[in-house]
Amino acid sequence: MRRFEDSYQHKGLRKQLVNLLREKGIIDENVLDAINSIPRHFFLDSAFDKIAYEDRAFPIGEGQTISQPYTVAYQTQLLQINKGDKVLEIGTGSVYQATVLAEMQARVYTIERQKKLYEHNKQFVFRNKYPNIKFFYGDGFEGLPAYAPFDKIIITAAAPYIPPKLVAQLKIGGYLVIPVDEEDGRQRMLRITKVAENATTEECFEYFSFVPMLQGKNG
Ligand code: SAH
Repeated sequence: MRRFEDSYQHKGLRKQLVNLLREKGIIDENVLDAINSIPRHFFLDSAFDKIAYEDRAFPIGEGQTISQPYTVAYQTQLLQINKGDKVLEIGTGSVYQATVLAEMQARVYTIERQKKLYEHNKQFVFRNKYPNIKFFYGDGFEGLPAYAPFDKIIITAAAPYIPPKLVAQLKIGGYLVIPVDEEDGRQRMLRITKVAENATTEECFEYFSFVPMLQGKNG
């Protein structure tokens, strides 16, 4: 059984990471507080313990990655999380992004299409600490119609297009934060606002690089 320890050294490295995110332009103090309080090294294989607070993505198995902290902070900031927001996340992965949202007191519904990652997350170290995260095995393109509508939706994989079923599951006034493929292989971060039942507006932000959002379930 792995022993999880959050030492002074880890806390110090985390503070440095938060300062770096601030320098890179993250200004939402609630986002920075959440990152400062969550031991990211718990979400990674212990081999990454010493480098867990570098601003980079790491492998988490099944060819997937835990997103770079800057990316997590950037997407979370765009969501403008309020306490109690009902948030749908596509791509549970390591559960780090979901934990940031849960720490900010959102009610998180997270979907993963890889059976192995979904099963692995049943042993998630913070399962009891964050009862406000609900885990689902399924295809994110379908969303969770039984739990809709959502205040916010976040996609943490490279989407080939804006999934219409997800827009349908947003509340009026809600946001969808989504990295969408461009021709050069990068993704453009978009924030879609649902302004009326059949109308959305779109804002464009920076370019990022994500693993692909894939159709259907695996496993
Ligand atoms: N939010 C994660 C990032 C994981 S990387 C974290 O904080 O660690 C993206 C994840 O999206 C991968 O685990 C991948 O399996 C998953 N994914 C890709 N396409 C998906 C889909 N259609 N539905 C649900 N999950 C999907």
